[in-house]
Amino acid sequence: MTIVIGIESTAHTFGVGVVKNGKVLANVREMYTTEEGGIIPMDSAKHHEEVSEEIYLKAIKESGIAENKIDAIAFSQSPGLAPCLIEGMKFAKVLSKRLNKPLVSVNHCVAHLEIGSSLGTNDPVMLYASGANTQVIAYEAGKYRVFGETLDLGVGNFIDTFARFAGLGFPGGPKIEQLALKSKRYIELPYKVKGMDIALAGIQTNLKQKLEKGIPIEDLAYSMQETVFAMLIETAERAMAHTGKTELLLGGGVACNSRLQEMAKIMCEERGAKLFVPERPLLVDNGAMIAYLGEIMFNAGVKTEVEDLDSVDIDPRLRTDQIDVVWK
Ligand code: AMP
Ligand code: MG
Repeated sequence: MTIVIGIESTAHTFGVGVVKNGKVLANVREMYTTEEGGIIPMDSAKHHEEVSEEIYLKAIKESGIAENKIDAIAFSQSPGLAPCLIEGMKFAKVLSKRLNKPLVSVNHCVAHLEIGSSLGTNDPVMLYASGANTQVIAYEAGKYRVFGETLDLGVGNFIDTFARFAGLGFPGGPKIEQLALKSKRYIELPYKVKGMDIALAGIQTNLKQKLEKGIPIEDLAYSMQETVFAMLIETAERAMAHTGKTELLLGGGVACNSRLQEMAKIMCEERGAKLFVPERPLLVDNGAMIAYLGEIMFNAGVKTEVEDLDSVDIDPRLRTDQIDVVWK
């Protein structure tokens, strides 16, 4: 029997999850938000520092476990905003010392992928569509490989920037989704798939110009979703065709979008593949997925003992395909 705590702090969310033998017992999180403008890394880090102990205690309470039964502390070590990652790591080290239990350094993107197995995925292609990250990832020949990705903006940041430009506030994704429901008028936008990758900056400029020319925001919201989500689904489908994999898993905040989910469903039905969409608490950034992967790694012997904590550091820019996968 193993019990692992997971700490998530890569960007705006501070989360603590508790997993016991692959089962999520608690998943508590709190998000740093701003009235206007995007995320300020130092402020978000400060938020994480302020709420960490409280969120941890809530998670312990929710899980019903005794602290002395915890076997390891997992934390998001990569990739993310450096000040935010540091707060998570600091808190993880405090816990590790306090409980005298080892630390497990987890990659955030891989955690989004691996939590899929709690829903029944076996070997999926993941479309990871979040604020900062937009990648198609799958495990192939001993590594987590990036089959396609955005060449410039993350799709969530792309949507948020346009929404902010249109005066909709932050985060823009849910608001754009609501506006898109009010239109069926498709306005031609650039469609930018380059090989397996996508590019969004040009579409951003085009959308802003069209808004300034007076095209209704509803029509632009609708057209943007139809265009950009089709680009995401196309690259995900190519990765499935290339690898021969028959499961698609969604991950990241943008994957909360019903239209994106619908397009994914249609694509999977057409090719006889199975779609997995985690419930929202496991789709967005969360501590449970960190604990979940942390437990798998811990059971494979991947850990840092309390005496060696100084050797552990964050890795803000680590790429998914650089990870040395020793636990599979
Ligand atoms: P994450 O970085 O994974 O926490 O996801 C945050 C991003 O998801 C933000 O850019 C949001 O605007 C976006 N988002 C959240 N809900 C939706 C939605 N329903 N449709 C599109 N984007 C969304
Ligand atoms: Mg994420």
